[in-house]
Amino acid sequence: MTETKASLYVISGPSGVGKGTVCKALLSRDDSLAYSVSATTRQRRPDEIDGVHYHFLTKEDFMARVERGEFLEWANVYENCYGTLKSFVLEQLASGKDVVLEIDTNGALQVKKLMPEAVLVFLAPPSAEELLSRLQGRETETAEEIAKRQKCLEFELSQQVFYDYTVVNDEVERAVDEIRQIIARRHAGQK
Ligand code: ADP
Ligand code: 5GP
Repeated sequence: MTETKASLYVISGPSGVGKGTVCKALLSRDDSLAYSVSATTRQRRPDEIDGVHYHFLTKEDFMARVERGEFLEWANVYENCYGTLKSFVLEQLASGKDVVLEIDTNGALQVKKLMPEAVLVFLAPPSAEELLSRLQGRETETAEEIAKRQKCLEFELSQQVFYDYTVVNDEVERAVDEIRQIIARRHAGQK
Protein backbone atom coordinates (compact mmCIF):
# COMPACT_ATOMS: atom_id res chain seq x y z
CA MET A 1 0.00 0.00 0.00
CA THR A 2 0.97 3.70 0.10
CA GLU A 3 4.54 4.46 1.21
CA THR A 4 4.54 7.32 3.68
CA LYS A 5 6.63 8.46 6.61
CA ALA A 6 3.60 8.56 8.88
CA SER A 7 2.69 5.45 10.86
CA LEU A 8 -0.47 3.56 11.60
CA TYR A 9 -0.85 2.59 15.28
CA VAL A 10 -3.39 -0.10 16.07
CA ILE A 11 -4.55 -0.23 19.68
CA SER A 12 -6.33 -3.49 20.29
CA GLY A 13 -7.21 -5.97 23.04
CA PRO A 14 -10.15 -7.51 24.86
CA SER A 15 -13.45 -5.75 25.41
CA GLY A 16 -13.43 -3.69 28.62
CA VAL A 17 -9.64 -3.53 28.92
CA GLY A 18 -9.75 0.25 28.48
CA LYS A 19 -9.00 0.82 24.77
CA GLY A 20 -11.48 3.68 24.51
CA THR A 21 -10.31 5.29 27.72
CA VAL A 22 -6.62 5.00 26.86
CA CYS A 23 -7.09 6.21 23.26
CA LYS A 24 -9.08 9.23 24.43
CA ALA A 25 -6.33 10.15 26.90
CA LEU A 26 -3.63 9.52 24.29
CA LEU A 27 -5.34 11.73 21.71
CA SER A 28 -5.92 14.50 24.24
CA ARG A 29 -2.20 14.55 25.01
CA ASP A 30 -0.90 14.33 21.45
CA ASP A 31 -2.54 16.41 18.75
CA SER A 32 -0.18 15.09 16.09
CA LEU A 33 -2.27 11.90 16.03
CA ALA A 34 -5.46 11.42 14.00
CA TYR A 35 -8.13 9.10 15.40
CA SER A 36 -9.98 6.95 12.92
CA VAL A 37 -13.70 6.94 13.74
CA SER A 38 -15.00 3.47 12.91
CA ALA A 39 -18.31 2.59 11.28
CA THR A 40 -20.64 0.22 13.11
CA THR A 41 -24.07 -1.34 12.87
CA ARG A 42 -24.47 -1.51 16.65
CA GLN A 43 -27.00 0.67 18.44
CA ARG A 44 -25.79 4.05 19.63
CA ARG A 45 -25.37 4.25 23.41
CA PRO A 46 -27.02 7.28 25.08
CA ASP A 47 -23.72 9.14 25.58
CA GLU A 48 -22.40 8.50 22.06
CA ILE A 49 -22.41 11.01 19.20
CA ASP A 50 -22.71 9.94 15.56
CA GLY A 51 -19.50 10.83 13.71
CA VAL A 52 -17.53 11.30 16.95
CA HIS A 53 -17.60 7.91 18.66
CA TYR A 54 -18.69 5.94 15.61
CA HIS A 55 -20.38 6.42 12.26
CA PHE A 56 -23.61 4.57 13.03
CA LEU A 57 -24.83 2.78 9.90
CA THR A 58 -27.66 0.43 9.02
CA LYS A 59 -26.67 -3.14 8.19
CA GLU A 60 -27.62 -2.47 4.54
CA ASP A 61 -25.45 0.63 4.28
CA PHE A 62 -22.55 -1.16 6.01
CA MET A 63 -22.69 -4.17 3.66
CA ALA A 64 -22.97 -1.89 0.60
CA ARG A 65 -19.73 -0.21 1.73
CA VAL A 66 -18.11 -3.64 2.20
CA GLU A 67 -19.10 -4.44 -1.41
CA ARG A 68 -17.61 -1.15 -2.62
CA GLY A 69 -14.33 -1.91 -0.82
CA GLU A 70 -14.59 1.14 1.45
CA PHE A 71 -13.13 -0.62 4.52
CA LEU A 72 -9.47 -1.19 5.28
CA GLU A 73 -10.68 -3.98 7.56
CA TRP A 74 -13.98 -5.00 9.01
CA ALA A 75 -15.18 -7.65 11.43
CA ASN A 76 -18.25 -9.02 13.09
CA VAL A 77 -17.71 -8.36 16.79
CA TYR A 78 -20.30 -9.60 19.29
CA GLU A 79 -22.97 -9.81 16.56
CA ASN A 80 -22.46 -6.30 15.17
CA CYS A 81 -20.29 -5.16 12.28
CA TYR A 82 -17.42 -2.72 12.79
CA GLY A 83 -15.09 -1.35 10.13
CA THR A 84 -12.27 1.11 9.51
CA LEU A 85 -12.85 3.57 6.68
CA LYS A 86 -9.98 3.21 4.22
CA SER A 87 -10.27 6.71 2.73
CA PHE A 88 -9.73 8.49 6.07
CA VAL A 89 -6.71 6.40 7.05
CA LEU A 90 -4.99 6.68 3.67
CA GLU A 91 -5.64 10.43 3.39
CA GLN A 92 -4.20 11.11 6.86
CA LEU A 93 -1.13 8.95 6.26
CA ALA A 94 -0.56 10.60 2.87
CA SER A 95 -0.70 14.02 4.54
CA GLY A 96 2.02 12.88 6.95
CA LYS A 97 -0.19 12.41 10.01
CA ASP A 98 0.11 9.34 12.26
CA VAL A 99 -3.20 7.52 12.65
CA VAL A 100 -4.61 5.59 15.63
CA LEU A 101 -7.10 2.75 15.19
CA GLU A 102 -8.96 1.27 18.14
CA ILE A 103 -10.20 -2.10 16.91
CA ASP A 104 -10.65 -5.75 17.88
CA THR A 105 -7.96 -8.42 17.50
CA ASN A 106 -9.45 -9.84 14.30
CA GLY A 107 -9.33 -6.42 12.62
CA ALA A 108 -5.82 -5.74 13.93
CA LEU A 109 -4.45 -8.84 12.24
CA GLN A 110 -6.22 -7.97 8.97
CA VAL A 111 -4.49 -4.57 9.06
CA LYS A 112 -1.08 -6.17 9.72
CA LYS A 113 -1.53 -8.41 6.66
CA LEU A 114 -2.42 -5.47 4.40
CA MET A 115 0.08 -3.04 5.91
CA PRO A 116 2.95 -4.94 7.56
CA GLU A 117 4.51 -1.63 8.62
CA ALA A 118 1.51 -0.91 10.90
CA VAL A 119 2.43 -0.91 14.60
CA LEU A 120 0.24 -3.27 16.63
CA VAL A 121 -0.14 -2.50 20.35
CA PHE A 122 -1.95 -5.06 22.50
CA LEU A 123 -3.60 -3.48 25.52
CA ALA A 124 -3.69 -6.15 28.25
CA PRO A 125 -5.62 -6.20 31.53
CA PRO A 126 -3.69 -6.43 34.81
CA SER A 127 -5.76 -9.59 35.53
CA ALA A 128 -8.89 -11.38 34.31
CA GLU A 129 -10.66 -10.37 37.55
CA GLU A 130 -9.91 -6.68 36.98
CA LEU A 131 -11.14 -6.95 33.39
CA LEU A 132 -14.45 -8.43 34.55
CA SER A 133 -14.83 -5.71 37.15
CA ARG A 134 -14.21 -2.99 34.50
CA LEU A 135 -16.78 -4.54 32.15
CA GLN A 136 -19.34 -4.73 34.95
CA GLY A 137 -18.50 -1.23 36.17
CA ARG A 138 -19.05 0.29 32.70
CA GLU A 139 -22.73 -0.76 32.87
CA THR A 140 -23.21 -0.74 29.10
CA GLU A 141 -23.71 -4.51 28.60
CA THR A 142 -26.15 -6.99 30.08
CA ALA A 143 -24.84 -9.93 32.15
CA GLU A 144 -25.41 -12.13 29.09
CA GLU A 145 -23.35 -9.82 26.86
CA ILE A 146 -20.58 -9.69 29.46
CA ALA A 147 -20.52 -13.50 29.59
CA LYS A 148 -20.09 -13.58 25.79
CA ARG A 149 -17.14 -11.17 25.99
CA GLN A 150 -15.59 -13.25 28.78
CA LYS A 151 -15.76 -16.36 26.61
CA CYS A 152 -13.63 -14.66 23.95
CA LEU A 153 -11.01 -13.54 26.46
CA GLU A 154 -8.72 -16.56 26.33
CA PHE A 155 -8.60 -16.49 22.53
CA GLU A 156 -8.03 -12.73 22.45
CA LEU A 157 -5.18 -12.97 24.97
CA SER A 158 -3.56 -15.71 22.84
CA GLN A 159 -3.37 -13.22 19.93
CA GLN A 160 -0.75 -11.13 21.76
CA VAL A 161 2.07 -13.07 20.11
CA PHE A 162 1.23 -11.43 16.76
CA TYR A 163 1.60 -7.91 18.16
CA ASP A 164 4.63 -5.63 18.12
CA TYR A 165 4.07 -4.49 21.72
CA THR A 166 2.03 -5.36 24.82
CA VAL A 167 1.07 -2.56 27.18
CA VAL A 168 -0.66 -3.42 30.48
CA ASN A 169 -3.48 -0.97 31.25
CA ASP A 170 -2.99 -0.90 35.01
CA GLU A 171 -3.22 2.89 35.21
CA VAL A 172 -4.47 4.99 32.33
CA GLU A 173 -1.77 7.69 32.45
CA ARG A 174 1.03 5.13 32.80
CA ALA A 175 -0.30 3.12 29.83
CA VAL A 176 -0.58 6.32 27.77
CA ASP A 177 3.02 7.23 28.65
CA GLU A 178 4.20 3.81 27.52
CA ILE A 179 2.35 4.13 24.18
CA ARG A 180 3.80 7.63 23.71
CA GLN A 181 7.27 6.19 24.30
CA ILE A 182 6.63 3.57 21.63
CA ILE A 183 5.58 6.33 19.20
CA ALA A 184 8.59 8.46 20.11
CA ARG A 185 10.97 5.52 19.58
CA ARG A 186 9.39 4.86 16.18
CA HIS A 187 9.88 8.51 15.22
CA ALA A 188 13.51 8.25 16.30
CA GLY A 189 13.86 5.22 14.02
CA GLN A 190 14.34 2.76 16.89
CA LYS A 191 12.29 -0.38 17.58
P1 ADP B 1 -12.81 -0.89 25.90
O1 ADP B 1 -12.87 0.32 24.99
O2 ADP B 1 -11.53 -1.64 25.80
O3 ADP B 1 -14.00 -1.80 25.75
P2 ADP B 1 -13.32 1.10 28.03
O4 ADP B 1 -12.35 2.17 27.68
O5 ADP B 1 -14.77 1.33 27.75
O6 ADP B 1 -12.87 -0.33 27.42
O7 ADP B 1 -13.11 0.81 29.61
C1 ADP B 1 -13.94 -0.13 30.30
C2 ADP B 1 -14.19 0.40 31.73
O8 ADP B 1 -12.96 0.34 32.48
C3 ADP B 1 -14.65 1.86 31.76
O9 ADP B 1 -15.64 1.98 32.78
C4 ADP B 1 -13.38 2.64 32.11
O10 ADP B 1 -13.67 3.81 32.82
C5 ADP B 1 -12.61 1.64 32.98
N1 ADP B 1 -11.13 1.75 32.88
C6 ADP B 1 -10.39 1.90 31.77
N2 ADP B 1 -9.07 1.91 32.06
C7 ADP B 1 -8.97 1.76 33.40
C8 ADP B 1 -7.87 1.68 34.34
N3 ADP B 1 -6.60 1.76 33.93
N4 ADP B 1 -8.15 1.50 35.65
C9 ADP B 1 -9.44 1.40 36.07
N5 ADP B 1 -10.52 1.46 35.26
C10 ADP B 1 -10.30 1.64 33.93
P1 5GP C 1 -17.95 -1.39 21.49
O1 5GP C 1 -19.22 -1.87 20.91
O2 5GP C 1 -17.80 -1.77 22.94
O3 5GP C 1 -17.70 0.08 21.22
O4 5GP C 1 -16.77 -2.15 20.70
C1 5GP C 1 -16.79 -3.56 20.63
C2 5GP C 1 -15.50 -4.03 20.00
O5 5GP C 1 -15.42 -3.61 18.63
C3 5GP C 1 -14.24 -3.48 20.66
O6 5GP C 1 -13.32 -4.56 20.84
C4 5GP C 1 -13.72 -2.48 19.65
O7 5GP C 1 -12.33 -2.31 19.71
C5 5GP C 1 -14.12 -3.15 18.36
N1 5GP C 1 -14.11 -2.20 17.22
C6 5GP C 1 -14.45 -0.89 17.23
N2 5GP C 1 -14.28 -0.36 16.00
C7 5GP C 1 -13.79 -1.35 15.22
C8 5GP C 1 -13.39 -1.40 13.85
O8 5GP C 1 -13.43 -0.44 13.08
N3 5GP C 1 -12.96 -2.60 13.40
C9 5GP C 1 -12.89 -3.72 14.19
N4 5GP C 1 -12.41 -4.83 13.65
N5 5GP C 1 -13.24 -3.68 15.48
C10 5GP C 1 -13.70 -2.52 15.99
